[in-house]
Amino acid sequence: MICEKCKKDLNKKDIVEFDKFGELEQPITYCYDCFVEMITTEYKSLGDSCEECGAPLELKTDDLEVDIEEKVLWYYCKRTLEAINPEEYEDHDSVGQYLTQPEADWE
Ligand SMILES: [Zn+2]
Ligand SMILES: [Zn+2]
Repeated sequence: MICEKCKKDLNKKDIVEFDKFGELEQPITYCYDCFVEMITTEYKSLGDSCEECGAPLELKTDDLEVDIEEKVLWYYCKRTLEAINPEEYEDHDSVGQYLTQPEADWE
């Protein structure tokens, strides 16, 4: 398999599959580096806002490697991410997004 972006030949274990959060019917394959670059720029924010305060939801990158392994990315209210005491922002939104939608496996 080949990375869609840099065309590098990949081992199966180095592949990250991504269907643009359900936008694509078939997931595209990326190498880890290209995927991280894309997700931290193009997909840093999903365009959703926190219902509590209206701040944008942004990618939480602390454990990006683990998240990619588990195939779920987490987006948190920007205020929560910047908070000194995040526990004060418990009511603020966070959402998990599958890299590939589970439905895709049913077909
Ligand atoms: Zn690549
Ligand atoms: Zn908020």
